[in-house]
Amino acid sequence: MGLRFYDTLGRQKTDFVPLNPERVRLYVCGPTVYDRAHIGNARPLIVFDVLFRLLRERFGAAHVTYVRNITDVDDKIITRAAERGIAIETLTETTTAEFLDDVAGLGCLPPTVEPRATAHIAEMIAIIEKLIASGHAYQAESHVLFDVAAMPTYGALSHRDLTGMQAGARVEVASYKRGDADFVLWKPAAATEPGWDSPWGRGRPGWHIECSAMSWRYLGETFDIHGGGLDLIFPHHENEIAQSCCAFGRDAMAQTWMHNGFLQVEGEKMSKSLGNFVTIRDLLTGDSFGGRAWPGEVLRLAMLRTHYRQPIDWTVRALVEAEQTLDRWYAAIGNEGADASPGKDVVSALADDLNTPAALAALHQLVSSGAHAEARASARLLGLLQETGSAWAARKQAGVDAAAIEARIAERLAARRAKDWAASDRIRDELARDGILLKDNKDGTTGWSLSRGHG
Ligand code: AMP
Ligand code: ZN
Repeated sequence: MGLRFYDTLGRQKTDFVPLNPERVRLYVCGPTVYDRAHIGNARPLIVFDVLFRLLRERFGAAHVTYVRNITDVDDKIITRAAERGIAIETLTETTTAEFLDDVAGLGCLPPTVEPRATAHIAEMIAIIEKLIASGHAYQAESHVLFDVAAMPTYGALSHRDLTGMQAGARVEVASYKRGDADFVLWKPAAATEPGWDSPWGRGRPGWHIECSAMSWRYLGETFDIHGGGLDLIFPHHENEIAQSCCAFGRDAMAQTWMHNGFLQVEGEKMSKSLGNFVTIRDLLTGDSFGGRAWPGEVLRLAMLRTHYRQPIDWTVRALVEAEQTLDRWYAAIGNEGADASPGKDVVSALADDLNTPAALAALHQLVSSGAHAEARASARLLGLLQETGSAWAARKQAGVDAAAIEARIAERLAARRAKDWAASDRIRDELARDGILLKDNKDGTTGWSLSRGHG
């Protein structure tokens, strides 16, 4: 069955034919690790997890490479670490660990590679050197800038032209820029800031170059699908395209550009000042949204009820409905296995630009017609019904083996005291895989809760 995806660049649904079906390549922009991820950030995590699962189903798990980066050098990180009076590495490492707990709690498969920007400075410098050599970048006052005027097709993804951009409301233009739209590839680092030696002096990369470097390293000059939220189309993805295409002399960075729509909360834009800012962690472990914690699958189902390109309104009511649906499905399917193939209608709905609402409707049909094994296999393609019916029910009754969980938490604490970070991380990851989320603070683990069952 053929796959079709809406391509933001071509502005239409197109047949998806991988450049190499033996190695299907997907890149999704990951988090900047300065703070807890919010529920809006969960949308691309869940949407592209479903895409990853679908590609694995279609081309074979061993033939799909999914790269999602971690941005661990950025102005926001520097500012936040200074505010909190902690080392930058402490901030980025703890935030990365929290992020990985959150995505595990949402039932996402780990990507094939999760590269960190700071480990790829050499690749960034190599690309910038290529861009200078080909006349697409210039050095000015210890900065290196991309020369937008040197790329005639700049703006194709976001459908902007340069003149429009210059006439718009504009931020103050740095004097060393040749053109208003020119963007930073490399900038000088103050002595107190993280910095790396480069041909242009000690400095640090701009944000956009990070993704060009990491996608190049793991996926090559051109790859299949690049994803992220709508807000990344401009300037981030536009600039990634400019860098990669001009450095490598290619027409395309990715064949297909996929963008998820935005999430708002109870009808309003989510913001700290409105007091409706919800983190993934709050939902999984806290009591801040609807007065309780929610299982990861409830969050996932609530997210997938809306097509990924539509805006989504995140409401307590939708979570309650999603939970009722899961209760019914788990009760109907019980512990029946997933040894069947996913249902044809579910697969064909997903194959048509990830139509998850249609896939869920088809899944309903399978459950109510008694095709339980098929239903479970189909649900797995959506990252749902990943536990047994008994584990789901046990959680409802809070009938979990609390003593065993506490023992493993104690083991982890001992490992941390012995500074055995590898063992501590391993235990945390194993617990996360079993659906147990730890609440950590600087003094240790202060509590835990269940996100998925452990049956
Ligand atoms: P950021 O850390 O802001 O770069 O965001 C990480 C990812 O989450 C990007 O793909 C963003 O497009 C996406 N994202 C951020 N806010 C929202 C939102 N409210 N709704 C949907 N996606 C979002
Ligand atoms: Zn990116």
